[in-house]
Amino acid sequence: MSENCLSPTRRGLLKAAAGSAALLAPGVFLLAAPSPSKARPDDTATDSSVRWGLLVDTNRCDQECTACVDACKEEMGLIGKGRPATDAQYIRKVELAEPKTGFTRSLPMMCQHCSNPPCADVCPTGASFKRADGIVLVDRHICIGCRYCMMACPYKARSFAHEKLEDQAANNPRGKGCVEACTLCAHRVDAGIVPACVEACHAKGRGAMLFGDLQNPEHAITQVVAQYPTSQIRADLKTDPGVRYHGI
Ligand code: SF4
Ligand code: SF4
Repeated sequence: MSENCLSPTRRGLLKAAAGSAALLAPGVFLLAAPSPSKARPDDTATDSSVRWGLLVDTNRCDQECTACVDACKEEMGLIGKGRPATDAQYIRKVELAEPKTGFTRSLPMMCQHCSNPPCADVCPTGASFKRADGIVLVDRHICIGCRYCMMACPYKARSFAHEKLEDQAANNPRGKGCVEACTLCAHRVDAGIVPACVEACHAKGRGAMLFGDLQNPEHAITQVVAQYPTSQIRADLKTDPGVRYHGI
């Protein structure tokens, strides 16, 4: 994979890389391609030859950084009411700690776009569904707000819209009484643009998120996953997340 030409300097990059043996090889960043693919024409169905995925290099995720969270809120029109317990949040930063050593890692957690999504299995109306290209969504027209999916999701990735919603983003129509979650920015992906969180992480110079087609050998994400150790959170549950992490 090529060096991140948007990183501050090669020296700085190598210095950072030298700090941890667990980092990707020196000079390698998880760099988002400017565009994941060509836009999908409106009259074309999603295709199972594609599986969209996300790779997070936790070595490069800064504990203090919330660029991905902020970009998601902006992109999806998530205007909070100052109530963290109930405000919608499609991405949150979490801290992982190794109990024996106290070693901690900060990482973004969002819908993992599971290949075997329990949220869809338990949904009584079919509102929770997986697209052929692996993106898991909620059809708000048929969501009855039972929240079974929220209980079934092992990643606590879903939110419930408790209150009347105003000033919604045109690309993310929401509804009071419906469940919602990260859409992997399907509206952008379908237009051939990487998700807003990936773009923001890239713009911040962190280079910790990479988006692409996990089934396309030409996509950087596929090459990095083949070359470096990555993990799926709670892989034992066999949900087969499309979100992978490096460094944990
Ligand atoms: S992370 Fe949760 S909401 Fe997302 S696909 Fe998996 S089970 Fe469903
Ligand atoms: S809250 Fe909506 S999406 Fe979730 S299980 Fe119930 S009907 Fe399905």
